[in-house]
Amino acid sequence: MALFNRVTIVGLGLIGGSLGMAARRKHLARVVIGVSRRPATLRRAKRLGAIDIGTTDFRRAVRDADLVVLATPVEDIAPLAERAAALMRPGSMLTDVGSTKAAIVNRLERTLPRGIAFVGGHPIAGSEQQGIEAADPHLFDGAVCVLTKTGRTKRAALLRVRRLWASLVDQVVIMNPRQHDRLLARTSHLPHLVACALIQATQVAPLPRAPRSFLDMTRIAKSPPELWREIVFSNRAELLAAMQRFDRQWRTLRACLTSQDRRGLQRMLARAQMKRNALDS
Ligand code: NAP
Repeated sequence: MALFNRVTIVGLGLIGGSLGMAARRKHLARVVIGVSRRPATLRRAKRLGAIDIGTTDFRRAVRDADLVVLATPVEDIAPLAERAAALMRPGSMLTDVGSTKAAIVNRLERTLPRGIAFVGGHPIAGSEQQGIEAADPHLFDGAVCVLTKTGRTKRAALLRVRRLWASLVDQVVIMNPRQHDRLLARTSHLPHLVACALIQATQVAPLPRAPRSFLDMTRIAKSPPELWREIVFSNRAELLAAMQRFDRQWRTLRACLTSQDRRGLQRMLARAQMKRNALDS
């Protein structure tokens, strides 16, 4: 049986489109409605099987939804959630897929009307690609999805959104927004900036092609700059702290080289090898 009657997805790009495709394949909603600013996106989403109905009319799309999922760039999520909440029926729910959580959750907990429950979400799956063309019904297979819980989160809403994601990903993890942002600053946002710095600092020519390891390490630098600019700024404090931790390690490595400390360098490489191997198990 479907978990929801009407689910509306606002923003039909890589994540929103993939969610629609996966939710429709698994019959998690009776009807999936998609909202986009461009009719071409809606046509494509319909052709790909990501939505049952597409519209550019935000009001019509959210009015009768049981669940509205905001899947737009992070800076648009809170304003759109506020707009949606003013139109939705009391008792309905809002969630999002934004890559940062504290700014969104803190704001919405202050501004949303009492009758509309909000649960922050972040499926940790994606790629450097963008738009409905890149949507993939299997994007969330084997992934982890984080849902946020605070003193103000409504338990019933959290459980229903958890059931939705539990049907799509390998594991749903619940944590507070700040913990999410700290973890993601270290594991996703910092690597992004490191990849960006590495690319900028490197000239591959006259090699005919870059080494495989270099391409692996810098793949994420191909991601859309506008999307990432806002992700980085919405997690600025945690990211600066993560950069400081990274900087300490980096300086230690450099000190090993400048002082010709072979044992020190060996120790650091061995520790890194052990820690990285542990991630595979
Ligand atoms: P994307 O591929 O660029 O898709 C965003 C979509 O939002 C666009 O297709 C755009 O379509 C639509 N949009 C933008 N503003 C809108 C508005 N005001 N109303 C309605 N639709 C609007 O981006 P994405 O990678 O799917 O990212 C979406 C969200 O998921 C972001 O918050 C991001 O942080 C999060 N996320 C991304 C990843 C990743 O790896 N990319 C992973 C996890 C979470 P139109 O131009 O047709 O309106």
